[in-house]
Amino acid sequence: MFIFRKAAQLTDFLSGTDRPTGFIPTMGALHEGHRSLLLRAAVDGHLTVVSIFVNPTQFNDPADFNKYPVTTTEDLKMLQDSHCDAVYLPALEDVYPQGTDQMPVFDFGSLETILEGARRPGHFRGVGQVVARLLEIVAPQHLYLGQKDYQQCMIISDLIRQKNLPTRLHICPTVREDDGLALSSRNRRLSPAERSRAGVIYQCLVSIEAKRHTTAFSIVAQECEALLQHKGFEVEYVALVDADTLTLLPDYDSGRRMVALIAARLGTTRLIDNLILSTD
Ligand code: AMP
Repeated sequence: MFIFRKAAQLTDFLSGTDRPTGFIPTMGALHEGHRSLLLRAAVDGHLTVVSIFVNPTQFNDPADFNKYPVTTTEDLKMLQDSHCDAVYLPALEDVYPQGTDQMPVFDFGSLETILEGARRPGHFRGVGQVVARLLEIVAPQHLYLGQKDYQQCMIISDLIRQKNLPTRLHICPTVREDDGLALSSRNRRLSPAERSRAGVIYQCLVSIEAKRHTTAFSIVAQECEALLQHKGFEVEYVALVDADTLTLLPDYDSGRRMVALIAARLGTTRLIDNLILSTD
């Protein structure tokens, strides 16, 4: 496994191979969710490139950025053991040689103003900037993202469309703990007591799916909010959207592909999750 700290070195390395590249951008503190993306790219037969970069421009809350977990030694060990061919581990200046203010700004329309965009102003602008830059450096044929960040997948899909890039996007299933909690680098901030309650988010998503033929969504959403609050969460949203456009839906609509999404805080930790509703 090669480790590159400079974009120019990585680009040189990639220009010397004719294998298609499968790229997995991450912010480190790697877990089995990240590893599943890497393994998928390896199974697909691609040269696998993982980036580890905690991008400051996508954090609307500086405190969140400052306490974002950094576990580089463990991350590199995991990658080494998981079929990773190359790691891009840059400093800030390598990603933004002209500074962060000089980067192009993309307009994602309503995709960036609802749900996560409404709760984290500027977040997707930062995501657009960093992913555009990483895709410029790596120029991958294949990009692997986790469904865990559903709205982010939609944003990046739109970015690829706007820039007309020859990159194919693969959205991979969310990896979960036994109680349904979606793996996340932020989970390690949960206290044992919080961790024991955190699986409730997934239970709520499952109940939203289970009740789609029997109960109005507004009622199910109220039940979920009440349960989450009872378990000590501060609920940000329990939402149902069109899976293709991310338009908010007031009620279930069997004529569409739907996704249920939840964001809630447990203590100081903000958790998000989603479930694509089955269409039967
Ligand atoms: P992050 O390091 O949080 O920026 O995530 C890097 C990539 O890993 C993103 O495409 C995430 O959607 C994906 N990812 C994060 N958690 C999971 C998970 N539990 N299952 C699958 N993919 C995930």
